Amino acid sequence: MWRLTKNILWGHPFYLIFFVTSKCNARCKMCFNWRNIDEANSRKELSLEEIDKITLSLSNLQQLTMSGGEPFLRKELPEICSLFTRNSKVPWITIPTNGLLPDVIENNLRRILRENPQTHFRLSVSMSGVEDASSEIFQVRDSFKAQQETMAVLKTFLTSYSNLSVDVGIVYSKFNENVICELLDYINENYPFANPMLAVVRGDSREKIAKEIDLDKLKEVFEYQRHFTKKAKNHPYARLINPIQDMVHELVLDALGAKRSPVKCLAGKKLMVLSDDGELFPCEMLKKSFGNLRDYDYNIKEVLALGSTKEILAAIKSSRCFCSWECALYNNIVFSNKYRFKSLLNLIR
Ligand code: SF4
Ligand code: SF4
Repeated sequence: MWRLTKNILWGHPFYLIFFVTSKCNARCKMCFNWRNIDEANSRKELSLEEIDKITLSLSNLQQLTMSGGEPFLRKELPEICSLFTRNSKVPWITIPTNGLLPDVIENNLRRILRENPQTHFRLSVSMSGVEDASSEIFQVRDSFKAQQETMAVLKTFLTSYSNLSVDVGIVYSKFNENVICELLDYINENYPFANPMLAVVRGDSREKIAKEIDLDKLKEVFEYQRHFTKKAKNHPYARLINPIQDMVHELVLDALGAKRSPVKCLAGKKLMVLSDDGELFPCEMLKKSFGNLRDYDYNIKEVLALGSTKEILAAIKSSRCFCSWECALYNNIVFSNKYRFKSLLNLIR
């Protein structure tokens, strides 16, 4: 708890999203990162030695998300996790995966969990629909079958490793808005150990139609999902995070309805994004890089002290930038006095 308090007060960044690779074995129609994925073979990923130096410049990091591409396609994923736990002492790591490689996930995750017993890992398996609906969106044959195998592996791991929790990540888009309730029912029935987390399609989606969603339907799905949220059960901070999820949904609906958020965005301050080739961004949405860590001796603090970084942050503040990206909204709520009070009230109710 002391570490969490310290990181809330001084963590800079508090939350890092690191794209460990742009390689991906799916071609999802709603993917916002599709350009990098299509060019993955020509991108120069940060090496282990480079990541080692970066992690040494990151103290007080509370939350790390290993994103991609498909993170389990990065062969050194276990070593990368260990660098962050050893050098940055990060207590909480989320790994989103498309779940298409059950054997690779099983072998690598076992190593990761064994080698980092003090760190809590949250695996978020991305599902978009059941059976053919999944293959259609991921553009991978039998994707749902592979994900079922992955969930079976994760279920057995939950009984052996206390430092693991499992969620199902669902990207809501035009392609699945009519079948999401069916998927929620399936998850509820078959994976009672996993919490379904909805994220709305964002950014520059591979197929533009992905973003033509019906907001009334989205609101209904949020309501429906609320029945299935396994309140206070599936991870250590669940009692705090689950009520925040409801607040995030309200803010998502506001943002998609072009209403400004009542909380200021702290992307670039408390949260930041590191690409596979070393560019540091305030968030996943703005294409404004603070700089490439390769040009600054891999020292994040040096990049954050640049005048050009401060200008980008000032522009985010003065424009009262807003969007529906859930990761930023969770982060903004945690640091907002108004919402922090509301979430504490929810906690004691
Ligand atoms: S959404 Fe995820 S799984 Fe799908 S193509 Fe993009 S990175 Fe790969
Ligand atoms: S509101 Fe969205 S686009 Fe703007 S800085 Fe925050 S996360 Fe980035």
